[in-house]
Amino acid sequence: MIVANVASFDVEEHHRIEAAVGLPVSAELRTDYAARMEAATRHLLDQLAAAQVTATFYVVGEIARSHPKLVRDIHEAGHEVGSHSWDHRRVHRFSPGSFRDDLRTSKDALEQVTGSAVFGFRAPTFSVMRETGWAIDVLAECGFEYDSSIFPVRHDRYGIPDAPRVPFIALGREREILELPPLTYRIAGMNLPVAGGGYFRLFPLFVMRAGLRRAARSAVPQVGMLYFHPWEFDPDQPKLPLKRLARWRTYIGVRKTTARLARLLGEFPFRRAIDAVRDLKASGAELPRFKIG
Ligand SMILES: [Zn+2]
Repeated sequence: MIVANVASFDVEEHHRIEAAVGLPVSAELRTDYAARMEAATRHLLDQLAAAQVTATFYVVGEIARSHPKLVRDIHEAGHEVGSHSWDHRRVHRFSPGSFRDDLRTSKDALEQVTGSAVFGFRAPTFSVMRETGWAIDVLAECGFEYDSSIFPVRHDRYGIPDAPRVPFIALGREREILELPPLTYRIAGMNLPVAGGGYFRLFPLFVMRAGLRRAARSAVPQVGMLYFHPWEFDPDQPKLPLKRLARWRTYIGVRKTTARLARLLGEFPFRRAIDAVRDLKASGAELPRFKIG
């Protein structure tokens, strides 16, 4: 039973990506990436409008300060604005107390700009993992209705490989939150992360399509959660001085993304994550419960 497919966009300037942490990036390049982030996001808004699709944008809080008009325009086009933290640090860098401050600052800044409540969160680099499981309690405490930060895969930077692949209740120490995991495809006893990133840019589109088709046939409530970044749709951006593997992983396939997204938007129905959350709650469906914190 498919509740919805969701196209989600993590809105951040290109130099904030995890592979670039610690790299020297000049002030000029940062300014350039900020301008390109805005242009690429507006291009996505146009593409979504042309396909008559509403989506979810998880926005870095600082961007509400630096580009308030952009964030307002995302909201006014009918899309959901969620939080992608204040300044794109991974959850590992925080204590529960400082994470709470970060979430509140980000949520407040986004809400002030849109005049609307923020319901959802996506951690930078899907950094809600076993070792940061305390984040579940903090997210629930800060009033988020759902989270989409737990990737049920084995990966060098993120993931809880045994977490459910369908919407589930993530149990913290004292609180819980509804979790929408990014789409995976189970094959040969492994969960392939087909929701976005390299799997969107590097592999033929049929991999992601197969994931969405299988999700549509799920016997239990399923959400086909995909994720993209504005910089993935900007093939002419200046490249970051990344090491070879990171460089390959980051820039492979960026010339094909706009056409690929157009095809997906034409082939599958999409809704905002918060619409899926509301439907899940209204259905009264019994969701799996999974202890993390
Ligand atoms: Zn991000």
